[in-house]
Amino acid sequence: MKNKSILLFIFTLVISSAQAQQKPAIALTQPKLVIGIVVDQMRPDYITRYWNKFGEDGFKRLLRNGYNCRNTQYNYVPTYTGPGHASIYTGTTPAYNGIVANDWYDNKIQDTVYCVEDDSVRSIGGDEEAGKMSPSRLLTTTITDELHLSTQGKSKVIGVSLKDRGAILPAGRAANAAYWYDGKTGNWISSSWYMNQLPQWTNDFNAKKYPNEYLSKPWNTLLNIDRYTESDADNNPYEATYKGEEKPIFPHDLPTLKGKSFDLVRRTPFGNTMTKDFAIASIKGENLGRDSITDFLCVSFSATDYVGHQFGPMAIETEDTYLRLDKDIADLLQNLDNTIGKGKYLLFLTADHGAEYNPQSLIDQKLYAGFGDSKALEDSVKTYLQVNFGKSDYFKCYLNNQIYLDHQKIEDNKLDECFVENKVAQYLKLHIDGVIDALTGCNLQSNEYSEPFRSKLQRGYQSNRTGDILLMYAPGWMDHLFGNGKQGTTHGTAYTYDSQVPLIWYGWNIPKGNTAREIHITDIAPTLSYLLNIGVPNGCTGKPILEIIK
Ligand SMILES: [Zn+2]
Repeated sequence: MKNKSILLFIFTLVISSAQAQQKPAIALTQPKLVIGIVVDQMRPDYITRYWNKFGEDGFKRLLRNGYNCRNTQYNYVPTYTGPGHASIYTGTTPAYNGIVANDWYDNKIQDTVYCVEDDSVRSIGGDEEAGKMSPSRLLTTTITDELHLSTQGKSKVIGVSLKDRGAILPAGRAANAAYWYDGKTGNWISSSWYMNQLPQWTNDFNAKKYPNEYLSKPWNTLLNIDRYTESDADNNPYEATYKGEEKPIFPHDLPTLKGKSFDLVRRTPFGNTMTKDFAIASIKGENLGRDSITDFLCVSFSATDYVGHQFGPMAIETEDTYLRLDKDIADLLQNLDNTIGKGKYLLFLTADHGAEYNPQSLIDQKLYAGFGDSKALEDSVKTYLQVNFGKSDYFKCYLNNQIYLDHQKIEDNKLDECFVENKVAQYLKLHIDGVIDALTGCNLQSNEYSEPFRSKLQRGYQSNRTGDILLMYAPGWMDHLFGNGKQGTTHGTAYTYDSQVPLIWYGWNIPKGNTAREIHITDIAPTLSYLLNIGVPNGCTGKPILEIIK
């Protein structure tokens, strides 16, 4: 037996050295195209819950032939769309990439800002306000920027999403283009950061007026409504209605609900279908994946987030949106097979955050959950500051479960900033329902936290952009929501329901398999770097996923 294996070993050596002589020393090949898919607000359990209703060619195709990282986690808070997209593509957390929330108070310019707003650029192709967007607040390179740098700009990088931030942040600062949806005009638009006019293929796409078509008929379930056994009954108190609707039930009469704009499309599964069609048009229009230099297409499906917020994870509307997304993904894969070729493209699919069950539905099932009241919290902090420090206007604003204090006023009155922060944090922990922890900027700048949740606050903290007192509600708690304040859902916390997301790799050089090992969202970008043999993004804190790159 032993002799046999030695012989086999020598034989293998001889064969492999013969093969090595035939090939160049290092055979560097590249995929023609990388497609990054981000499904906004996708919980990983949707895959298993809806499995029996999915077709063979969408999610099932990816999972059966690809590699499933089943325990992929966001390693910072807040788990919102802007930071989520930034961390996937930069391989680092808001502490370094600077995208600390969707909106934050900027201490340098003393104003509230939106993560991709940019007054120095012009709208191209649509409403003026909707187009004044760019990645100018992104502080580190993305994997897409690194691809650009490593090919002297010869690779093409395109970002596509209904949401501006979902298109702009993935494509990076050096992108050829990012396109997003303008609900006012019903057009896909861009900004002068990227171009001075829309390319002809985009104008052609806009001329087809898909939003008109999608809003001309009611939204009915794809399957017979009795078959949605994985979801709650259609009419239930935990779902919010569309504006103008009596009950949150099918059919949703889009033609009467749409009003004067085309914005409603994004709140229906058809927003995803339109995104898929625009992505396919961009592959053709930009000739993506046609030469020997790798191109990168970033596609973000955002309709899932709008539907998820309004109806919650247990709604038939949410299930129907995923069943339709499954078909859209099947269509996209079919198109990639036809245009790029099977095995010649590399694809990954993940999400920018998850979402919690509706808290009221949990309470009604005897589980512990609750609703925070941000207005009441704000008022009580102001009163506390007035009573204890003589001024309520040390309080600046409350955003993203963070309190921003007025540093200048505190300094002018010769108060110790850290003392004030700690007192407010202490007060909140003792007096606000549902608050279980509060860390201050001073805490975060002088300690290094390793505990699972506090360390997530630290990785999301950047002193110029994050607030001064960071609150943590108990699991299951969230701020007032839609409709009556207790309908639908949201996300943003450090807890698994918000932090755990799907991560599936598929296509070029991807092995079949799965792992339940904990993988961080910041590991995606360095994994791509190793797969593509290009630089790692410059603020990267993640590690390559060895199971994928071996
Ligand atoms: Zn959201």
